[in-house]
Amino acid sequence: MIPIDIAIAGCGPAGLAAALLLARDGHRVTIFERFETPQPVGSGLMLQPTGLAVLHRLELGHALIARGAPIAHLFGQNARQRTVLDVHYAALRRDGAFGVGIHRATLFDVLHAAAIAAEIPIETGKSLCATELHGSKRWLRFDDDSRSGPFDLVVDALGTRTPLAPPTGRSLAYGALWASLDCPPELGFRRDALEQRYRRASVMAGVLPIGTPPLANGPQIAFFWSLRADRRGQWQSAGLDAWKREVSTLWPATAPLLDQIDTPDRLTFAAYAHRTLPRPAEAAMIHIGDAWHSASPQLGQGANMALLDAYALSQGLRAEQDVGDALAHAVALRRRHVLLYQGMSSLFTPVYQSDSHLIPFIRDTIVGPLSKIWPATWIQAAMVSGLIGNPLSPLGLGR
Ligand SMILES: Cc1cc2nc3c(=O)[nH]c(=O)nc-3n(C[C@H](O)[C@H](O)[C@H](O)COP(=O)(O)OP(=O)(O)OC[C@H]3O[C@@H](n4cnc5c(N)ncnc54)[C@H](O)[C@@H]3O)c2cc1C
Repeated sequence: MIPIDIAIAGCGPAGLAAALLLARDGHRVTIFERFETPQPVGSGLMLQPTGLAVLHRLELGHALIARGAPIAHLFGQNARQRTVLDVHYAALRRDGAFGVGIHRATLFDVLHAAAIAAEIPIETGKSLCATELHGSKRWLRFDDDSRSGPFDLVVDALGTRTPLAPPTGRSLAYGALWASLDCPPELGFRRDALEQRYRRASVMAGVLPIGTPPLANGPQIAFFWSLRADRRGQWQSAGLDAWKREVSTLWPATAPLLDQIDTPDRLTFAAYAHRTLPRPAEAAMIHIGDAWHSASPQLGQGANMALLDAYALSQGLRAEQDVGDALAHAVALRRRHVLLYQGMSSLFTPVYQSDSHLIPFIRDTIVGPLSKIWPATWIQAAMVSGLIGNPLSPLGLGR
């Protein structure tokens, strides 16, 4: 397609990756972000082989791997120390199959620096509330009543609470408290594993190595603790010491990590929502990343799917001459994989975050032991890698 004017709404992984890819293809791109200083919210996440394939195309993959923590193994035990999650990327028997634990700020830093180097304009302090369609062009409308435009295409990458799409989906009962904590080697946590501990499905603690984030003095881990959104008040009034006792009873090795949490403010609560837009493309607008689909992070795919969506959009615009056709093309490249993972995420979330007694019982007694036997070992590794449904080949990212 000939170069067009594109507004990217949102400076998260989806927006930054889309901006970089589309600017490299010669389009005139501007990013709009509500924060005065663009900043990532939250703690750690896992990059999977899917997201890394896109980052390698952007020539940013190696920088991110070097600044994060390569993850070979996902491991979880219940309160009786029975192993109920045991996923090895090596089961895929594929070169370069590993995850990368990373702080959001590192992912943001690398993408943002590339956008600055590419001289992509970023308009900050711009809180979007709507768009207006005039003929074939779209305008952005901001909270302060100002407008910007016209654009041939608006890319909505505003995340799960986007005001540019109709409300859909549901908030999930469980969210999690997150903190980034120092993790010197003497603490004994593995450098290459995401580890979790569960009591039924209502209690879950996790530790994910995330490399050395910006401004940190050494390697850190993301620590997370599952919590029902409606029990936050109860958690606060019980006090930090009561909570630390509960965590260290379930998982004694976390005690030195918990010592770093001296006030409740060290923990950030993240709420999760499960939503999928039925129509991610409209006239002169496409919703990508969490603005299209979001889920609980049990399968750790959100940022990776956002990167794949951005790549599909660039492929759509390359393949077609008309914006509408390009958006339909991009959605067609991604829809099957999105629906597959949204379905799997819906299925697996209650296994790790719910009030059910039966589901975790089945997990611990039947599924856990069976999952150590081939082909379950391969299926689990493919699932966490984001590779079920073969998302890379249609995008030209496969080998
Ligand atoms: C606790 C937690 C753990 C997670 N773990 C993983 C994981 O291990 N692996 C994984 O792949 N994913 C994980 N995810 C999901 C992942 O973080 C998201 O899927 C990903 O960030 C989506 O990227 P995005 O760019 O679509 O949206 P966001 O990252 O939400 O970015 C949206 C951007 O838009 C801006 N914005 C929002 N509203 C407005 C507005 N009105 N006007 C202007 N700007 C606005 C925001 O400030 C932000 O910069 C996790 C999520 C959470 C909450």
